[in-house]
Parts: sequence; structure tokens; C-alpha cells
Amino acid sequence: MNYIIMGLPGAGKGTQAKKIVEGFGLVHLSTGDMFRQAKKSDEVISKLLASGQLVPDDIVIDMIKNRLAKGNLKNGFLLDGFPRTVKQAEELDLMLKVENMKIAAVFFVDVCFDEAIKRIVGRRVCTCGASYHVDFIPPKIEGKCDICGKDLIQRDDDKEDVVKNRLEVYEKQTRPLIDYYKKTKLFVNIDGSKNEKEIFNQISRLMIVNKITVKNTGCLLCYFA
Ligand code: AMP
Repeated sequence: MNYIIMGLPGAGKGTQAKKIVEGFGLVHLSTGDMFRQAKKSDEVISKLLASGQLVPDDIVIDMIKNRLAKGNLKNGFLLDGFPRTVKQAEELDLMLKVENMKIAAVFFVDVCFDEAIKRIVGRRVCTCGASYHVDFIPPKIEGKCDICGKDLIQRDDDKEDVVKNRLEVYEKQTRPLIDYYKKTKLFVNIDGSKNEKEIFNQISRLMIVNKITVKNTGCLLCYFA
């Protein structure tokens, strides 16, 4: 099965995405991770990320189109950070049609602005991929990764002035996607005010139900209707 996870920056999508792909054996398609990799050699992408702006639609769309066409997604995938505009969502629908693929559910991790800001500004990451929060998930030794011992860093786009910009960009360009997906009946609201484990439980319960019933129902909301 294929899924989309979305939410405000700081909603905890990345953390949940990692748990979901591990738990359900899905391929993690994170456009943010792809661009963080690309920014090492691309100055334009690097500047867009550092300022909290979105990468232009045609670049993101091409990147996902190529990835879907490449295959190796038989066990399903989780889109994390894509789509982020209505144009991207429309293009995704076309791509899925061409590849004869479907999305089973769009999980919207719902948190308020204040909570999102608190979570982003306190986030610290390691180059090994581990992620912490200075208050909620502190490392055992301050500033050091529990897994590999390297120094933890704050992502440039997690700094307070950039975060405000990211949230504005989200409101303008990404929030309209909620209505877009509500119309398709794939949309599932997840209470993101809960802790990491409870959020994962909400999502995984729905995915387990979906795995068993999808052949008959086609989508999660039809099952609960
Ligand atoms: P994320 O880790 O998902 O918050 O993404 C980090 C940054 O990558 C964003 O602030 C954007 O600059 C860029 N990015 C990721 N996904 C997209 C997308 N679907 N469309 C445009 N820009 C994106």
C-alpha cells in the first residue's frame, strides 16, 4: 500500500515516517531528505532550503516522477514532504495513473502553530540520521548523538527566523492541500498533540486495518463509513 504523510513543519512527520517505513517495510520517499542531499552540490537548492522557501514545482515533480518510474516500490511507499502544493498533488495524481498505482490514505498530523514552533526550534539532528529534541527527546549526553557520539547540530532551516518563513509558506501553499485531499476521501486527521508513541499507534492501527480490508473497500474512510 502507498501512503502520504503531511502536516505543519515540526508536526513530527519525519519521525513518524521513519517509524512507519521501518514497521511496515515501505520505501521512504522524503523530498526534504532528497534536497538536503542535493544541496551539498547545488547552490540554488541550498539557498532555497536555508531560507525556508519551496523548491520550484517542476523540479520536485520531475524528481518524484523519475523515482516512481524507477520502480522497486512493490511493497509500497510513504511520501513524506510531497506533495506540498496543489499543482504537485495534481501532477502526482497523473503520475500514479501512468504507473497504475494508488494512494490508500493521506495522514495529516494535526498540530497547532505554537506546538510546531516549539518542536522545530528545539530539534537537534545528527549526520547519522538520528533526531532529538532538547526538552522532549534529549540525548543522554548533552549535544552528543546517543548512537554514534557525534556532535548534534541544528538544521539551518530550524532556526527561529527561518521557521516563521516556513510556516508562512506552509499556510499559503500547502494548507490548500487539506481541502484537495478531503474531497478525495483519502484524508485522515491524526491528533499530533499526543506524544510520539501515541501518534504512531494511531497511524499504525489505521494501516493494519487498511492492509486487511483494502481489497474490499479501496480506502480507509470507506471502511469507517
Ligand atoms: P522538509 O524536510 O520536508 O521540511 O523539507 C525541507 C525543505 O526542502 C523545504 O523547506 C523545501 O525547501 C524543500 N522541499 C521539500 N519538499 C518539497 C516539495 N514537495 N516542494 C518544494 N520544496 C520542497
